[in-house]
Amino acid sequence: MTSSPFSILFQPLRIGPVTAPNRFYQVPHCNGFGYRMPRGQAAMRAVKAEGGWGVVCTEEVEIHHTTDLSPFIEGRLWDDADIPAYALIADSIHKHGSLAGIELTYNGYDASNLYSRAAAFGPRSMSIRGGSGYEPGQTRAATKDDLNQIRKWHRAAALRARKAGFDIVYCYAAHGLSLAFHLLSRHNDRADEYGGSLENRVRFLRELIEDTKDAVGASCAIALRFAVDELLGDEGLTHDGEARQIVSMLAELPDLWDVNIANWSNDSASSRFEKQGYQEKYISFVKSLTTKPVVGVGRYTSPDAMLSVIQRGVMDFIGAARPSIADPFLPNKIKENRFEDIRECIGCNICVSGDNRMVPIRCTQNPSMGEEWRRGWHPEIIAPKKSDKEILIVGGGPAGLEAARALGQRGYRVILTESAREFGGRVHRESQLPGLSEWRRVVDWRLTQIEKLPNVFPYLGSPMSAADVLEAGPRDVILATGSAWRRDGIGRSSETRFPGSRFLQETWILTPDDLMAGKLPQGRVLIYDDDHFYMGGVLAELLAQNDCKVTLVTPAPTVSFWTQFTLEQDRIYARLLSLGVTLLPRHLIASLGPGAVTVKHAITSAESTLPADAVVLVTDRIPNDALYRELLSSLAEGKLDSLRLIGDAEAPNIIAQAVFSGHLAAREFDEIINPDETPFQRERVL
Ligand code: ADP
Ligand code: SF4
Repeated sequence: MTSSPFSILFQPLRIGPVTAPNRFYQVPHCNGFGYRMPRGQAAMRAVKAEGGWGVVCTEEVEIHHTTDLSPFIEGRLWDDADIPAYALIADSIHKHGSLAGIELTYNGYDASNLYSRAAAFGPRSMSIRGGSGYEPGQTRAATKDDLNQIRKWHRAAALRARKAGFDIVYCYAAHGLSLAFHLLSRHNDRADEYGGSLENRVRFLRELIEDTKDAVGASCAIALRFAVDELLGDEGLTHDGEARQIVSMLAELPDLWDVNIANWSNDSASSRFEKQGYQEKYISFVKSLTTKPVVGVGRYTSPDAMLSVIQRGVMDFIGAARPSIADPFLPNKIKENRFEDIRECIGCNICVSGDNRMVPIRCTQNPSMGEEWRRGWHPEIIAPKKSDKEILIVGGGPAGLEAARALGQRGYRVILTESAREFGGRVHRESQLPGLSEWRRVVDWRLTQIEKLPNVFPYLGSPMSAADVLEAGPRDVILATGSAWRRDGIGRSSETRFPGSRFLQETWILTPDDLMAGKLPQGRVLIYDDDHFYMGGVLAELLAQNDCKVTLVTPAPTVSFWTQFTLEQDRIYARLLSLGVTLLPRHLIASLGPGAVTVKHAITSAESTLPADAVVLVTDRIPNDALYRELLSSLAEGKLDSLRLIGDAEAPNIIAQAVFSGHLAAREFDEIINPDETPFQRERVL
């Protein structure tokens, strides 16, 4: 590595009283484990440290019951009884020689306190913005005594963090900027020394950093996480306005600047909207104002891009949340010159949805993410084969590819057949839709790995019938044959086919599969989205770009409803409006007739008729399980030893679930599975 230009990335760097072993810095990220599942979190963070991340941080950790972030499951260090859980996390990071960071947080108006029922603090009495974003209730206006209390609590939490073994202790003023609530003039109408001038508004944050330094600064580095732009223009903090002044005012106070943009949907923008390095233009000024090390993020997955940001002096550490989730071993792979083995994040934000749905983190690219403790899965290591069995996998979409790759890694001989002329199934098709090109990495990484496995034999253009399967040789068969979008309207909001739909098939009613196959309608197109994730919105974008006059009808209260959990909903809404798409939420299709669709209001049932030259139905999918059903009898007759249906063919779902399903099938192969037993360990309080 010493002769490689990438050796810069492996140079140690001092942060206050501690030294990071290299420049790979896993910035704080939520994970859905939080206070409820410390063992799960400890094992997940340990894998990051093992994979070479020189600094590994927790998510935001509440310091007191008055900053309770429920219903979200974040960290908790309210009192000394919480220390052992955090000591477990810090120890697990230290075992691999990395520094452990903890992001202490006091979220004022961002804490809904649904569990603690305490009154949250704010610079004034203002509506609570946390939780659902629409929680009824307001903060109390923090008095000077309250501010002193918060300082005391923050100090006490810092001492607890040090006791737990953390090396880096954060003051957190990013995302909702609520710890630093006094910074924002739009929230701060105080007449005392915490309001008015910028100097006054910065006072509270300055005091918190000074307190934390005073409490633990001799042995712990003090990091300030600060959002330098809210992307609100003059309404908010901007990198060339007050945020710049704040950085220069506090420049040398923290030991490390961890800078990003607010709010979370901007910081963790998906690849549909932002590409690698998208934060650079906001954060690059920071290094010119401080001698302290700077870390920033921007979903860097390319070693060249990482090297470039260090060489150009944009930052000193490559910060990462998502790239470290998709590939906990990214640093080690760069060190070992194994660039092609890096499992690049696709920017889909399924990881984020775990936190937003309050379940352990999951990842489209990395099926072991979140499973480190409960299933004992490791992203790089898998049990070797237990027999010399050969396996036939039918279907080369994400499920089949992952099953083939992981079984191949175990050492089994695998035949992978795909009827199409390209591998990738739905990912191959969907990655050609507007904004989704990075999703292609799901296929590319798996194909690269399969290419290296001499025991995996992939065949394209090989549609398999039941007879073909039986003739192929292997007596163990995995079917990953995918699913097809329905054409009759049956879905979440309609249990029966749409009146009129049977007469109109093929000519006028289209499905996402048709559009992805290049069958694009013209003129006035009505998209009916009863799927509610990205597909309806992406197709609206595609058709609007193709000069169609698009109306997006959905029974949900808003378009692409589930994308709120991947932080994309507002951006999708804005993009569709900018493309001139007419949005019609809370409407169902009542009936279809040539040239017209009758829709009805989901609540009042009031009907109206819309002219349409074509209708695109984004509803349920039908699993392609006919081959499975045919082969079940062969299994019963003993012609096959095992038969397993995986991915969308088993139960249509998101891509992450297909990858997971393929991985699970590979891990469980040759194992006896007892369906009566929970297949993973759980964290119990009692
Ligand atoms: P998943 O998300 O579960 O991986 P996909 O729909 O992405 O499902 O992929 C399924 C793949 O299986 C598709 O590429 C499809 O062409 C292929 N396939 C389906 N049936 C057969 C078959 N009988 N023989 C070979 N390939 C098949
Ligand atoms: Fe990246 Fe998607 Fe994995 Fe998150 S879930 S780390 S965005 S690939």
